[in-house]
Amino acid sequence: MPEEPAENISGGPDGGGIESAFEPSPDPATRAEAVVDRLGDIYWQKAYGGQDAFECLVRTVLSQNTSDVASQPAHDALMARYGEGGEEWEDDLAVSLADAVRDELAETIASAGLYNQKSKTLIRLADRIVEEYGGAEGFDEFVTGGDPAEVRSTLLDMKGVGPKTADCVLLFSGGRGGVFPVDTHVHRIARRMGLAPPDADHEGVRECLEQDVPPEKCGFGHTAMIQFGRDYCKARKPACLDDPEACPMADRCDQVGVYPDTGEVVDPREASDVAD
Ligand code: SF4
Repeated sequence: MPEEPAENISGGPDGGGIESAFEPSPDPATRAEAVVDRLGDIYWQKAYGGQDAFECLVRTVLSQNTSDVASQPAHDALMARYGEGGEEWEDDLAVSLADAVRDELAETIASAGLYNQKSKTLIRLADRIVEEYGGAEGFDEFVTGGDPAEVRSTLLDMKGVGPKTADCVLLFSGGRGGVFPVDTHVHRIARRMGLAPPDADHEGVRECLEQDVPPEKCGFGHTAMIQFGRDYCKARKPACLDDPEACPMADRCDQVGVYPDTGEVVDPREASDVAD
């Protein structure tokens, strides 16, 4: 079974947090649960949670609009400079980043792309977290101990934090079971497979998956579905397009918007069998 990739939204095997695996069910209650269980057969099996909340926020902001392969080195460089033991370390990661010189931070995280915008976002978030929670530790207490709905709406109120970033912080640091962040891969795959309506937006897909996947499997489902999207169910060329046997999920998939007969692939909301 392949290991969790080192470059992953979770931080990979070295990302920190709790160490535990979810148990696949002998009798999944929904198709979505059966899909997640099978992802566990194909990939790694891991439950998430327990990461430092502010570092998790930093990691997710760096990952916006780029691949984990590009954002992981930026995260590592940022931590080497502004994290504990780094030359700009000020006893707390949020304090270190709040005081960062923007050009220097931008240069440090250049490999993640959009470094001007991301450096501004990180400094602004760090400022707010120092002001409201006194630093990374106080923020961590809020994320791990606060009411999840309140934590989510507080995070969404921060400029530069969208639903996926808020959910990743809740999941990877808060260890909140039942949080299934939806990125572009999850949004595409869930609707193609028929796990969510073809015209569902990101929030709609999140609601369907959080309803149908048991809480302890949601975090794994998120990370593994992204990997599945990279390996098999690609945006323009899903594996089943040329070879019906090539996808390990074929027997559980409705192939909405995927037409192997003609080689055509469209967004599920534009699929001829569901469009008006
Ligand atoms: S059968 Fe095709 S559309 Fe369905 S999950 Fe596999 S690759 Fe994606």
